[in-house]
Order: sequence, then C-alpha cells, then structure tokens
Amino acid sequence: MSKQLSTRITNLPASATLAMAAKARELKQQGIDIIGLSLGEPDFNTPEFIKEAAIKAVQDNYNSYTPVDGYLDLKEAICRKFKRDNHINYQPSQIVVSTGAKQSIANAIQVLVDPGDDVLLVAPYWVSYAAIVMLAEGNPIEIYSDIETDFKITPQQLEAAITPKTKMVVINSPNNPSGSVYTEAEYRALATVLEKHPDIYILSDEIYEHINYGVPHFSFACIESMYDRTITVNGVAKAFAMTGWRVGYIGAPDWIAKACTKMQGQITSGTNCIAQRATIAALDAPVEQIRYMIDEFASRRELILDLLSTINGFKLNQPKGAFYVFPDVSHYFGKTIKGKKIENASDFALYLLEEAHVATVTGEAFGCPNNIRISYAASTKEIVEAIKRIKEALA
Ligand code: GLU
Repeated sequence: MSKQLSTRITNLPASATLAMAAKARELKQQGIDIIGLSLGEPDFNTPEFIKEAAIKAVQDNYNSYTPVDGYLDLKEAICRKFKRDNHINYQPSQIVVSTGAKQSIANAIQVLVDPGDDVLLVAPYWVSYAAIVMLAEGNPIEIYSDIETDFKITPQQLEAAITPKTKMVVINSPNNPSGSVYTEAEYRALATVLEKHPDIYILSDEIYEHINYGVPHFSFACIESMYDRTITVNGVAKAFAMTGWRVGYIGAPDWIAKACTKMQGQITSGTNCIAQRATIAALDAPVEQIRYMIDEFASRRELILDLLSTINGFKLNQPKGAFYVFPDVSHYFGKTIKGKKIENASDFALYLLEEAHVATVTGEAFGCPNNIRISYAASTKEIVEAIKRIKEALA
C-alpha cells in the first residue's frame, strides 16, 4: 500500500503552538519537570456560573444536533454582547457560532479566498492564519512590523502592500503574540486606506478583547465604512477560561454568514450543545464578573516584564493586551552556549526547552524570526521559576 498523503496536507505546516505544547506534555510524562509557557491558555477554571449553566443544559436534555449556525437564543446573546461591548449592531442572521474562533477564521477564509488571492497578514501574526490561507490556496503576504513601532503597522505600510490581487487583510488586536493594541485613531487611519479599495475584506480577530490593560478596545466593524466588509471574530476561550469548550463566533454581513454556515454544514455541523448553552451564561454576565482574571494577568505581566528585564539580550515591548511577551532574542544568534549553537529563534526555543526545561514558541511561526513567544497565562510560581531557569541557562 502506498502511504501517499495529499499534497495539501503534506505542504501544510503543523501548528507550532500546539506542537510545542504536545512536546512539553510528552516530556512531562517522561518525568521531566517542564514549565509550559508555550500555550495561550488561562490557568483558571471556568467560572462556576458558566459550569452551572452547562450542568443545567445536560439535565434539561440538550443532546440533539444543534442548528448549524448556533441556537437562536445564543445568537441573540451574541448580538447583545456586540452591542454592549463593541457598539456594533448585528442581527442574529449575521452571526455564526463555530467550534472555536479557529473554525470561525477558517470558515471566513474558505468562503472568501479563491486560489491565487493574496491575504495580508500583519507580522507578527498568530501561527494558524498563514496555514489556513494556504489551505484555501491563497497566498499569505506578510506586512512587517517591529518592536520600534510597538509591532503595529502604519497606513503607509498597508497602502504599499495592497495590489489588485489583495482579497483580504487580517487584523488582530489585542495581538497574539505581541500584545499590541490598536487605538481607535490608528484603526481609523488604516480604514482610510481601505476605503480606497472597496473589494478588500477585513477579518478582525478580537479573541483577546477582554484581556486588555488599559487602551480601550476598538472594533474595526464600528467604522461605518468598514461594517459591510468586516468579519468580526470572537469567542469565549480566553476571557472566560473556556479553551476546551470550543466556542467561537463571527458577526459579518448576511451573505458571508450564510456562506460560513454552508461551509460548516458540510464539515462539522453545529457546535456542541452544552458548550453553546454555557456560552449564553458567559456572554450575558457583566464583564466585571471576569475582572479577577484580567487583574491577575495584569499583575503577571508586570512580574514577567520585571524579571525579563534582568536578563541580558532580551529586547521587549510593553504588551497592552493578551497574555504573551514577545522578546527579540537575536542578541544570542551566532553564539554557542553549553556546546549548543544558536542560529535562530527555533534553536533558541529548543535550547530553553532542553536546558531550562521551559517551553516557549519560536517567533518564526509568527512571521518574526528574531523573537520567541512566552505565555504568562501561568501561575506566578511557574513564571518566577521559569524566568529564573532561563536566566541561569543563558548566564
Ligand atoms: N491561540 C492559542 C495560542 O496561540 C492556542 C493554541 C492555538 O490554537 O494556536 O497559543
């Protein structure tokens, strides 16, 4: 039997975040004391009131197939959330609930991007954007940002990257991995460029919306001229400590939502019934109810920035949201430490895993080969110990 996989999957890079998390898990199982700072996963438990809603859903016999685009009352709750937090008016027909924001993104890209279309990604970008574009046979085109501009792009950079082949631009604020947050004025300036290019769609990934340390969150679809061509992606994983529940959603123009439903209807069908019921409780709760987690991430951010500032050769921006730091570690490239040659960020991350037993993710996966990503969605104890080990391994 010839074990011949399709070219599609053969050419697809594996998710670097998930690969590193799997590697860390494997080493832990072998008895090695690994500190996992690779995955963007809150270390909190899902709040009680959400768990109770799920238990009630089981008892109320929510066990049948769900509507492909989500329960109507969940879509209504999502519309209320968009209005309350983002000042965007969506109707339930514009909402599609999916199995995680990752599927929401994949749906939107599958239904809009044709083979050969260009999709602009602002580097650093979340690992899976490029792979999802490749699955749609589109071309991921990177626009570079760096630490000097707090990893944000200017309108001039956006304008320069647009060509007749550009179909979509993916934006993400708060950003994974840099933690940068675009202000309303900065987003409006980017929109001014896009106003001149009416055939470009905008996918705005706002999954870290609530993990924000002060710059007010601004939704791109709030800009009137952008509303008709923006797909707003969000979900409950990060803010409500519900990563494993797998619930994401979009707000989008009707015709795009309809196409995403068609896509999903052929691949996964409706999202898990219990998780959907729990999501209604999460979204209807005042944001204050999850404030304790955001406050805790804020204090861990201070802690990790303080600790990292004592390590030679780490260049850092100050993240304004999400729960990652993304230091430039190129200072170490070309050096040999403990007999191991560090040529790039992947070597560096591997060195930290092997020598310090700390799992991070190489910046190469995010389109920034000089950096590594460190998640601080871990306990204070783990953060302190991990940075101590990294410092020792590099001393
Ligand atoms: N989005 C999270 C991260 O970047 C979860 C893992 C993933 O799906 O990439 O770590």
